Amino acid sequence: MHRLKWFVLAGFAVGLIGALVGSCDREPAGAVDAAVSDAGPRSDGGLPSNANLHIIALDDDSEQPVPARVDFAADGQPNALTFSNDTAGVPLGRDTAGLWTSMALLTGDGEARVTPGRYDITVQRGIEYDVARQRIDVPASGMLSETIRLPRAFDSAGWVGGDFHVHQAPSNDSDVPAQDRVVSLAIEGIEVVAAADHNENFDLAGAARDLRMEKWLFAMSGNEVSIDMGHFNVFPVPFNPALPHGGAPAINMSWDIATMLRTFRAPPEDEIVQINHPRMVSPLSYFVAVGWNPDSGAIGRPPFILDFDSVEILNGIEASRADIEQIIKDWLGLAERGHLLTAVGNSDTHRIVSAKAGSPRTYLRVPDDRPQMLTVEAVRQAIRGRHAIATSGPWLVVTVNDSAGPGDTAVLPAGNDVRLSIEVDAANFVPVDRIRVFANGSTVVQMRTVPSSINHQRFKEVITIPRPAVDTFYVVVADANTPLPRELAGRVDRDTFSYAIANPIFVDVDGVAAFSFPKPPLPPNLTTGMARPDIMPLPWWHDFDHSSVIEFDDCELEQATPDEP
Ligand SMILES: [Zn+2]
Repeated sequence: MHRLKWFVLAGFAVGLIGALVGSCDREPAGAVDAAVSDAGPRSDGGLPSNANLHIIALDDDSEQPVPARVDFAADGQPNALTFSNDTAGVPLGRDTAGLWTSMALLTGDGEARVTPGRYDITVQRGIEYDVARQRIDVPASGMLSETIRLPRAFDSAGWVGGDFHVHQAPSNDSDVPAQDRVVSLAIEGIEVVAAADHNENFDLAGAARDLRMEKWLFAMSGNEVSIDMGHFNVFPVPFNPALPHGGAPAINMSWDIATMLRTFRAPPEDEIVQINHPRMVSPLSYFVAVGWNPDSGAIGRPPFILDFDSVEILNGIEASRADIEQIIKDWLGLAERGHLLTAVGNSDTHRIVSAKAGSPRTYLRVPDDRPQMLTVEAVRQAIRGRHAIATSGPWLVVTVNDSAGPGDTAVLPAGNDVRLSIEVDAANFVPVDRIRVFANGSTVVQMRTVPSSINHQRFKEVITIPRPAVDTFYVVVADANTPLPRELAGRVDRDTFSYAIANPIFVDVDGVAAFSFPKPPLPPNLTTGMARPDIMPLPWWHDFDHSSVIEFDDCELEQATPDEP
């Protein structure tokens, strides 16, 4: 428990731009505004006069401030909370959201009032940057100003980091306000998000606009359709806050998949539909519900309808190595039969403190990677085109013959071998120790060991694979035996394993226009139909002790904190 306490982000305050209000102790926005205006005289910069700490987080390359998160530990004692907990009236200054042991720098530049003393601070901005640690002495009077430079671990130009599965207050099992969620995403470097509240249409765009964070985050509406057969994210959806459930259709728990898809895929929206945490046992999830066996191709309880766009290979809750390896097998077992689903990674966070937004995440290759230039269509095309990399840490650059990337097809000239170029980069806290190349399914055709390192570039090699006799798709996976450090990873209550999975690159060798898959597709009589499989639903998440199984309750953490007012 102790190691968790310093990580508690009991949000309590705001800057002039917006509020980060704790997910347990929620204050209406009006109360927060009053606290700011009662703060007394401000300095010329519009900053509160009683701030004694000013932190700027700079991108070390661009030298521009970037949204970031600062965690405080007092003199090496992680559980000694001495960051001000004067929650009612602490003005934290422009662009700053204050937290008991942490603060969010909304635009990379913020102030706080902190109990004077010595702190070890940790500044981080998700997996694209090294974590920075520094010891500071906050004076009893005057202001300490610190500029923290965050070295960039890899260049994601041309790609955007997305989290297509985050929960907030409309979910019956989350109390995170929309603005908190936006902040939690922006400080992790997430650039595109789809809301995913259980059977509720919702959109974070309004909160992003209120916080003036559109420069950093493109928000799409969405719904986590949660039925007995599994959980499925649909985005975008028509969101209307004036209607019950945000305008979502009335959802029947016992819907079959065909009915669910027909309801949510209705034109003109053309939604992305994603299979969530496909092997989770509670709630029952899709691959378990239908009894999919990727080795034999057997389906225990058909139909196994596969008219989906994507599947969560990485999910912040379904995160054990055994889970992930099984789901990779499931996914490759479908792909080798020509049933292509885009592999994605999402946090499925329901909290701020105990589960980080953006861990894991999905990178999408898009025409313009500035969040304010993103469009629903660009996101849709990237997902449908499988121009995607799912990752909980490592950055993976994979090409065939220097041009074809994930989702692309390379036509191999006669006589040529396959030149598979792989580069893995990672921030200083992300372990990587193995790279596997899968060919046409779950067969590993190449494996490399990656030495332990904190350098950004962990691996770079062009692997020559002898020309295959038949069309072949290649999937590259980087991972590590060692989990990420818990205080920096997605979850504080369990391990997050380091994985990066690049979607398939298709190598066409036979000169026939269409890619030929190595196995025949699943028979149509098993993949179509509306009959609801005869499943035995486990206690569903409404009835289940959700907190003990799936979620770690932030509020319990906060209540365990000795310094709570
Ligand atoms: Zn969810």
